[in-house]
Amino acid sequence: MKNRLMKLGLTLFLILGLVGCEGTQQTSQEVSTTGNLNVYYFDVGQGDSILIRTNKGENVLIDGGNNDKGEQVVRYLQALHIDTLDAVIGTHPDADHIGGLDTVIDNMKVHAVYTPKVTHTTITYEDFVKAVKRKGLKLKEAKAGVSLGLSGADAVFVAPVKSYGDDLNAWSAVVKVTYGDNSFLFTGDAPVKSEKDMIAAGQNIRSNVLKVGHHGANTSTSQAFLSAVQPEYAVISAGKGNKYGHPKAEIIKRLQANGIKIYRTDELGTILSTSDGKNIMFTKVPSLAPQ
Ligand SMILES: [Zn+2]
Repeated sequence: MKNRLMKLGLTLFLILGLVGCEGTQQTSQEVSTTGNLNVYYFDVGQGDSILIRTNKGENVLIDGGNNDKGEQVVRYLQALHIDTLDAVIGTHPDADHIGGLDTVIDNMKVHAVYTPKVTHTTITYEDFVKAVKRKGLKLKEAKAGVSLGLSGADAVFVAPVKSYGDDLNAWSAVVKVTYGDNSFLFTGDAPVKSEKDMIAAGQNIRSNVLKVGHHGANTSTSQAFLSAVQPEYAVISAGKGNKYGHPKAEIIKRLQANGIKIYRTDELGTILSTSDGKNIMFTKVPSLAPQ
């Protein structure tokens, strides 16, 4: 109970920056991005695209939104003065994750591309593979235990822990990034079956910030998973008024019942989460918005 209260206190303190940005309350709190771990949850409508920037200037892009969002992601990266991606992760072959990656890969220097060992017959998937080849790169396998080998943060895959046939979401590469005392979990569209397998395999998934699986669909984010991850914050990447009804009310309720503070790209646009290794701040980034 005490722990929960302390958690709440900390959350209230940390959201001041965000509230300030919304203009409902003035605050002099400014988020410094230098020397910190910065995670940008880009606004790409219905889909995922997340940039992790370490204090050593390393850049990791997880997913690139839908086919028509590639140029937008490139624009976001350019606005952040990024021309090199140390790693690109295609969490799984669905279009709302890898659709924009071909355009991103064509427009950036890319050192490595990770994706789980599952293929798909769509043109979107072919375009992704072709872009990787054009870059002279070979796809690296994303699976539990593989480390990205960054120097500014520890980034390691915790899923997939096994093979899932043609269940593309279950193949989702899940990566945990740790910086000092803070950790972030990025789940792609991993469903409950994958959550169960991560827990059963004893993967170290406990994290302060959870990127909620599958845009807040009720096929992910089981109570067992939340109990294992124990996040203080949840970020949901979903499009405003999307046809799937993501995120589902059931999932929002479950997160709230666990005392987890929720940030949503459909409400806030691009969200920046900054860690100094001890505390985590959230701000919205109106300058990184769809045009
Ligand atoms: Zn998705």
